[in-house]
Amino acid sequence: MHIEYNSEMGALEKVLSKVNRPGEPTDWAQPANLECRCADCRELEAFARNPNERVHRFRVRQDRRQHLHGTIKRCGLDINHQTERIGSPQTLVCTKTRRTFDNRCKQYTDDIASLNTLAALEAGLPPELQGTLRKVHEAVARAKSPASGSTASMS
Ligand SMILES: [Zn+2]
Repeated sequence: MHIEYNSEMGALEKVLSKVNRPGEPTDWAQPANLECRCADCRELEAFARNPNERVHRFRVRQDRRQHLHGTIKRCGLDINHQTERIGSPQTLVCTKTRRTFDNRCKQYTDDIASLNTLAALEAGLPPELQGTLRKVHEAVARAKSPASGSTASMS
C-alpha cells in the first residue's frame, strides 16, 4: 500500500499551525456587529463590546424582550438571558458567558489527544517525517506547560 506522505503531511502541518492553547479572555468584551440598528440592539451591542460590564438589564415590553432574545440567538452572542418576572414591564437580564473560550479549550484538548495518538506512531514513520513529528511533540509539550508565558527550555 502506498501512502501519499506529502499530502498527508501537508494536512498535518496545517493542523499543527492552528494547534495553540486558546488565550484566556482578559475582560468581558466580545465582538458584536449587529445588523439591526434599533435602539435595543444598539444597547445590546454596546453591552457586548463593553469590557467591564458582565450583566445588563433591559426593562422593556415583551415584544422587545423577544426581539433581543432573537438577536442574541441569531448572532450567536456569548450571552445568557433570563426574564425577571417582577413589575411591568418585566426585565430581561443578560449575562455574558465564556462559551466561545470554553469551546476553543475543548477543541484544543481534542486536538492534543489526536496529536498524542499520532506521536505514539512515531516508530513506524520514515526519517523524512522527523521534522513534522518534532512539531507534534512541541505542540503536545506546549499543552502540558503552564497556561501563561512561554517556558522555553534551554537544555
Ligand atoms: Zn433590533
